[in-house]
Amino acid sequence: MPAVSAQQREQSASQRREALKEVFAQARGCVRCPELAATRKTVVFGAGNADAELMFVGEAPGASEDEQGVPFVGRAGKLLEKLLEEIGLSRTQVFIANVLKCRPPGNRDPLPVEIENCQEYLLKQVELIQPSVICTLGNFSTKLLRGDPTGITRLHGQPEVLTLGSRAVRLYPIYHPAAALYTPRMLETLREDFTRLPELLALGAPEQPQVLQVPEVMPEAAAAKVEEPGSEIDQLGLF
Ligand code: URA
Repeated sequence: MPAVSAQQREQSASQRREALKEVFAQARGCVRCPELAATRKTVVFGAGNADAELMFVGEAPGASEDEQGVPFVGRAGKLLEKLLEEIGLSRTQVFIANVLKCRPPGNRDPLPVEIENCQEYLLKQVELIQPSVICTLGNFSTKLLRGDPTGITRLHGQPEVLTLGSRAVRLYPIYHPAAALYTPRMLETLREDFTRLPELLALGAPEQPQVLQVPEVMPEAAAAKVEEPGSEIDQLGLF
């Protein structure tokens, strides 16, 4: 898969959306994880606004998601939608994805090798969607994107600026809604953390890393070549 170039950073939203569709087409036929490829019904790539300011990253599709090909459509998804509504957003305004694009059989935890195999798709999504804020839901996405084993209990509700590929984003780890379904105190904390999202979004994108612009032809070098008759022949002789 080719890397997202500095040029793509400047692409229009519709161009980035088209590029995202190409990544989806590649993911659809992915067989990097033979067990997941053999047992999945669909590849759950992600859904929502391809130019969203806010992106959510969960863990992996469950049974309902695998059936429908859409992330977070089960009970945890309904809670996510409700929490979004409470801060005045709908799921069509954000982009929702997962660490794994395929359902692990029996809803087991993603394996390290599966996370490794799949992370390229997630990083491409981040590069092409260009969100200002990425909300990681639970441990798997938080650990992956931070590249650190610190758990969600310590990190939830604390935003930080992080560089992912060529993009700087505001990472905001929060509890996974599935965990909050069964633990009222966790739901309370998740709701509190959610209420800080609008102010984080209001900050806009963090400052982006500088990209060195290297001109394709260096005029002086090109001119020097023209002024040196025979140099081309000399060089041809060297190879
Ligand atoms: N849990 C997740 O992490 N992702 C989904 O898509 C559904 C439930």
